[in-house]
Amino acid sequence: MPKQTIRDLALDGRKVLVRVDFNVPQAKDGEVSDDRRIKAALPTLRYALEHGVGLILVSHLGRPAGDPAGDAPFKLDKVAARLSALIGRPVTKVDDTVGPLAKAAARSLRPGGIVVLENVRFNQGEKKGDRGFAAELVALADAYVNDAFGTCHRDEASMVAVPEGFPPEARAIGFLVEKELQILATLLGDPKPPMVSVMGGAKVSDKILIIQNLLPKVDRLLVGGAMTYTFLKAQGHSTGKSRVEADRLDEARHLLELAGPKLVLPVDHLVADGIEATAKTQVVAGSDIPDGLFGLDIGPETVKAYAKIIEGAGTVVWNGPMGKFEDEPFRAGTRGVAEALAASMGVTVVGGGETAEAVEGFGLADKVSHVSTGGGAFLESLEGKTFNSLRAIPDR
Ligand code: ADP
Ligand code: MG
Repeated sequence: MPKQTIRDLALDGRKVLVRVDFNVPQAKDGEVSDDRRIKAALPTLRYALEHGVGLILVSHLGRPAGDPAGDAPFKLDKVAARLSALIGRPVTKVDDTVGPLAKAAARSLRPGGIVVLENVRFNQGEKKGDRGFAAELVALADAYVNDAFGTCHRDEASMVAVPEGFPPEARAIGFLVEKELQILATLLGDPKPPMVSVMGGAKVSDKILIIQNLLPKVDRLLVGGAMTYTFLKAQGHSTGKSRVEADRLDEARHLLELAGPKLVLPVDHLVADGIEATAKTQVVAGSDIPDGLFGLDIGPETVKAYAKIIEGAGTVVWNGPMGKFEDEPFRAGTRGVAEALAASMGVTVVGGGETAEAVEGFGLADKVSHVSTGGGAFLESLEGKTFNSLRAIPDR
């Protein structure tokens, strides 16, 4: 069921609290080093301003210990400054979240104005989902919009108790969350066949629930990344010094059985004598990694085979890099898969922190249908989980 969106709210002259996800990567000096998450919220914020809203923005940033004075890197000043530059309007940053400064700023807020409250995680009540703390946030505004997809899997106060404090007709999702939910509904409910899932990354244990949930829906599940070696080991192959989760071999065997021919493993590997970028590399064909060597990427024949399957797919969902892509010598597999998604005529969706980072880094983010802004929220959605934060927003 589609959720109420900001389009459904009475907006003119109202003060609207928007829960955004401004949890951006920062440089050492605290400067915003990647403003994608701020940019992703702009459509909702602009729409609200054009409809006569005064905006009160709430976000977390990092995992502060709780003491604002000692936690300067977690303050939202630089985020607010970047927002102001991007949206081309003054932004008032206040140094508390529900204290006297926030109350005063909310009171004097006019249509077209923007207030950024201090990092919501400076308040103990946030993590606990505390209703008393939530009520103080609710008192600042007339309506609530959730545009923080990256935080939707959390039960923190600003995600659940705060929307529950507003009347049902004053709660909605923003455009970013709406788009993420539409993409997920297509992926999980009505994908255009053939449906291909590409899974990689660090650990099979992180991805077991996703694989289980996706298997019945996909025609092919292409495996890469370090999880490859847990599967190969489970099949009785030698894996050299590659990363293997020895305590997950039974689960891996079970998944292989469940998946049958749907699950495709690499036919060659890029191996190296160390895990540093300076290590000596070579390509080995087949399913065995020589003694003493590390499997660090899928090999060129695997890239070709996967690219062919991806290019013929109606729908592709990709999570998890194909190798240790952070280092240039181990990047070709991840790049090859990214290029195949970019070239595919199907619906192509990328999610997961490192996977999204890789695709952005290759400059291919605009060539796929969607790069999810939600790491954990995207992965849990693929596991089939639903969220309290979204249950708090009424259906249309
Ligand atoms: P995401 O954040 O996209 O969900 P993961 O967190 O599961 O992805 O995995 C990303 C990490 O997996 C990357 O840091 C990458 O270096 C690592 N990785 C992928 N393949 C290998 C490999 N063969 N050996 C070691 N590390 C790997
Ligand atoms: Mg990750």
